[in-house]
Amino acid sequence: MVDTRIYKVTDLDKNDVQADIKNIVRSGKNIIFPTETVYGIGASALSEKGVQNIYKVKGRPSDNPLIMHFSDIGSIHDYIHIDQSYVKKLIEAFWPGPLTMVFRRKPVVPNTITGGLDTVAIRVPSHPIAQKVIAIAGVPVCAPSANISGTPSSTLFEHVYADFNKKVDIIIDGGKSDVGLESTVLDVTGDVPVILRPGIITKAMIKSITPHVDMSEALQGTEVPKSPGMKYKHYAPSGKLTIVEGEKVTDYINDQIKKQHQSNKKVGVIATANLAKRFDTDYVFNIGESFDEAIIASNLYIALRTMDQMQIDVIYSVSFHQGRYGEVIMNRLYKAANHRVVKV
Ligand code: AMP
Ligand code: MG
Repeated sequence: MVDTRIYKVTDLDKNDVQADIKNIVRSGKNIIFPTETVYGIGASALSEKGVQNIYKVKGRPSDNPLIMHFSDIGSIHDYIHIDQSYVKKLIEAFWPGPLTMVFRRKPVVPNTITGGLDTVAIRVPSHPIAQKVIAIAGVPVCAPSANISGTPSSTLFEHVYADFNKKVDIIIDGGKSDVGLESTVLDVTGDVPVILRPGIITKAMIKSITPHVDMSEALQGTEVPKSPGMKYKHYAPSGKLTIVEGEKVTDYINDQIKKQHQSNKKVGVIATANLAKRFDTDYVFNIGESFDEAIIASNLYIALRTMDQMQIDVIYSVSFHQGRYGEVIMNRLYKAANHRVVKV
């Protein structure tokens, strides 16, 4: 058990807090901090002990590599080879921000974080607290999502606290994450960049900078994943989640609610504001207006985690295909539901 220190954003200007952060990261311990995507659990990328502790407290499979985070773009060159000319344009367009790029690595990058691959994933987050923590640490920081592996990522301080109090040395309370979904992961080792994990930096946005972009075959479910993380269970709540799509969503879900109640199950529904009022059940999570996909994205993991807090046994969610972020929201939701989809 660890004596966890909780810091507010305003504490980060204090000398003793900065010294604590630097010491913790440099001595191979862990710190949880907000980023613009989700909360990250951080360790020095150069500390085998710190990195191994991340795998341990998260319960993360050791072949699922970590992203190295930098506070400024200049220092990435010590760690990677930039092979493609389009990368410069992508860096100018999207860094700092929620885009992770996979490069050929230099030998200095420890094997512990790459899962034995000859590539490494790099991101420069835009969140001021994330930047500050990494700058204070003075080393690149690995920071996978701060959640127990397989469960929904954390986008609220309360969720991080519930999972990691007494397990990490420092947690920084940065309120609600802005984006609410993990970064886009883009392989930039080849002639054409390949999206390994969708995010709110969308294919269309990348295409507007460099004309050719591919989607990983694995995202279409036909190939051995190039991004090792894609083969594992992800984002799943404890309750059994089913996505319901089609014209008769309301009737179908209300029928199911009645049936599940007969067998004494607690039933939850995740729906947009226009539909939420139509369900009469134990708990309904109003995820936001159907036209506001940024809000839906930022509420998705909160919805899934709230279902667990309410000890819901069976969860039905409508789908959220609409708008610019529809694809990434549904990528996460399908995984959370283990691809259980009912068309009605
Ligand atoms: P997380 O840190 O939880 O956001 O997950 C990081 C994601 O990036 C996982 O899906 C990893 O499989 C992926 N990733 C990290 N490093 C690499 C790499 N070198 N090549 C391909 N995918 C990677
Ligand atoms: Mg994760």
